[in-house]
Amino acid sequence: MTYNEKRDKFEKNNKIPIDHREVNRRTELFLNTLKVNRPGMIVWLEKGLILKNALKNYLEEQLKKNGYFLVNTPILVDAELLKTTKHREFYQNMMFTEMKLKKENLQFRPMSCPQHILLHQQLFKQKILPKGTPAKFGEIALLGRNEPSGSLSGLERVRIMNLVDSHIFINLEQDKTLLMKELNNVLNFTIKTLEKFSIKIHQITLSVKGKGKKFSILKDQEWNELEKILNELLIINKIPFKKREGEAAFYGPKIDFEILNSHSVLTTLATIQIDPKLYSLVTKDKKKKIIIIHHSVCGTLERLIATILEQQQGNIPFWLSPIQTYVLSVTKSSSDYTTKIYQRLVDNQFRSILDVRIKLNSSYIITIGKKEEKNSTITFKKIGGKRVNGMDQAEFIYRIQKEKFFGN
Ligand SMILES: [Zn+2]
Repeated sequence: MTYNEKRDKFEKNNKIPIDHREVNRRTELFLNTLKVNRPGMIVWLEKGLILKNALKNYLEEQLKKNGYFLVNTPILVDAELLKTTKHREFYQNMMFTEMKLKKENLQFRPMSCPQHILLHQQLFKQKILPKGTPAKFGEIALLGRNEPSGSLSGLERVRIMNLVDSHIFINLEQDKTLLMKELNNVLNFTIKTLEKFSIKIHQITLSVKGKGKKFSILKDQEWNELEKILNELLIINKIPFKKREGEAAFYGPKIDFEILNSHSVLTTLATIQIDPKLYSLVTKDKKKKIIIIHHSVCGTLERLIATILEQQQGNIPFWLSPIQTYVLSVTKSSSDYTTKIYQRLVDNQFRSILDVRIKLNSSYIITIGKKEEKNSTITFKKIGGKRVNGMDQAEFIYRIQKEKFFGN
């Protein structure tokens, strides 16, 4: 079945999702060929970069609004640090080889947790921790994981990725109720974020130690207590979930938000994990009882974009669309008026293209002819929508401004 046939069929019965790599033929967001880049490493083209940056800006803004202190830590870390935190043992088959320099050994980090822990410890000592209790760090973290080449799949599974990563540090000696309160906040923040992107979650899972978990840094009693907490969180919030034996993180149980991709494979997007041990492993401070909530509200930017493309068939929501309006003049004589409309859209901070006479994938196509010029109006068609003739300019700007901030 060709791409167009698949798309037509999807539009007819809305049942067959299309692989995001096929959608990309139309949206032209990224390159995934072996000529320029290596497998699992994405080359973003301009439109893809605009989309990725729009997502990054939105997510950083949301992290800030929710009380997270934004940071940006390096992708290369001291190899010893990853040994201390047991990440090296756990991710041994997925880590890039250590780089041996003259005086130090560096490694691509598979996770940013160890650095966030060190950062928390240092800022605490210097008494410059971000305001608010507990301390929360948020980062769109660049990570490197040596995923097996057979598992790489477009944007969905890559070797260099941008994880929307967060850590909340809770001192249980200060306030025992804080953990549940923060878990509730994280759960709501995650659900709201996924809703904003109109992501359809297939299922929510609670991964526990079970009998299948071989590598763990916790005692059985600790597992039981933590699993009870996450179980309670889901029940209190009336969220149906599946229990997964043996699939927990090595430092504690987790809740995963899973989507079904176009090949009917389940993959994790967002995650919430609790961990009572890594803090003391990294800081070597056994007195301080700090429990960490590791969480990601929407996974990696790469997988998030793949999911949006697949679930929405390339119809990227207007507020994220790389080209929001495409202004086209149908007669030579209206070109001044067309330029004026284009300029007005640009002045109102809409990503716009002016009459370039090439086929583009834009949210709105605006056409200007003699009639529109005479009446100071515009005619437009929204992707997937009906053509609207002769709308007043100000009314149109108001309509898309509303859509940018509040959606359809
Ligand atoms: Zn973490």
